[in-house]
Amino acid sequence: ADWAAAVAAVRDLPEDPEVLLICHVNPDGDALGSMLGFGLGLRRLGIRRLQATFPGPPEVPEPLRGLPGAELLVPADRVYPAPDLMICFDAASESRLGELLGRLDTAGTSVVLDHHASNTRFGAVHVVDPAAAATSVVAEELLDRLGVPLDAAIAECFYVALATDTGSFRFAATTPAVHLMAARLLATGIDPGVISRRIFDTRPFGAVRLYGDVLGRARLEPASAAGLGLVWTYATLDDLTRHDQRPYVLEPLIDSVRCAAEADVSCVVKQIAPGEWAVSMRSKGRVDVSRVAVALGGGGHRFAAGFTGRGTADEVVDRIREQLDGAVISDDSEGCRPSGRA
Ligand code: 5GP
Ligand code: MN
Ligand code: MN
Repeated sequence: ADWAAAVAAVRDLPEDPEVLLICHVNPDGDALGSMLGFGLGLRRLGIRRLQATFPGPPEVPEPLRGLPGAELLVPADRVYPAPDLMICFDAASESRLGELLGRLDTAGTSVVLDHHASNTRFGAVHVVDPAAAATSVVAEELLDRLGVPLDAAIAECFYVALATDTGSFRFAATTPAVHLMAARLLATGIDPGVISRRIFDTRPFGAVRLYGDVLGRARLEPASAAGLGLVWTYATLDDLTRHDQRPYVLEPLIDSVRCAAEADVSCVVKQIAPGEWAVSMRSKGRVDVSRVAVALGGGGHRFAAGFTGRGTADEVVDRIREQLDGAVISDDSEGCRPSGRA
């Protein structure tokens, strides 16, 4: 991680610079939380012309709409054409930047803050720490190195990011350093009970009925020669329409599916357009699902990964099944602990 270059990229900006912050498509709590928290920090440094954005549909999931710093968000088609500095958050590869990819070439310089081991090292300056539980861990350290103290608004953003990517401090990535960071964030006075209820435990009633439909069609299969258990289900656009729900409400479903004891690998296959599916995969430790995802055009972490697939839901799952045996983690490879998501 090139901390010195990242600090210099901010410190050496010209007078009254334009700064553009971007995060990955379909942003989650870590993408938005790390980006907006860092953006509020740049505000404290006196940076006035500051935009935050993400590619694809400009919809922020309802639970994340009230994040501090949300006023920095602008639609992707209205951002500075040639910002002095562009900073990318939580995006493992260029493909996660969609139509904003070209800004990497027109920006004066670019800094990539991320924690995906599979990060492709796009952009000019890389602060990528695969040991970090969330991109917000990296963002907090960079703000600290820039001399920006935490306040409650920044802390709320970073807390949402940290809690999202550690599964509310349950996954193996929840190190002592994660709890120490959580302690620094809570010391600003933010209320973890209120924040967690709003972000993780508040969905429209229609979502509860929708979960019933989708979980009710989950299947358990001995999926492979190695005897790996696969539990999977799917959700269609019609499911969303029938219950009058937005796609983001499907995100927590993978956590219900993966709790099946028989599942080594679990998947939720979510229709995003006719014949097009966004796939979430989780592993309990025997399979490196990022290898499955990369083979099918996506990416992610060893035990939490995803990709976009075409055809029917069954065809998409067939393709996953074909990849499973080849993605079994051998006994001599280091570490076999599920570390969670995003
Ligand atoms: P989730 O299942 O929570 O959407 O994503 C889990 C992990 O897989 C995240 O690290 C996310 O970045 C990655 N991921 C999910 N979908 C895709 C995708 O379509 N492409 C890539 N490159 N990564 C993905
Ligand atoms: Mn993410
Ligand atoms: Mn993340």
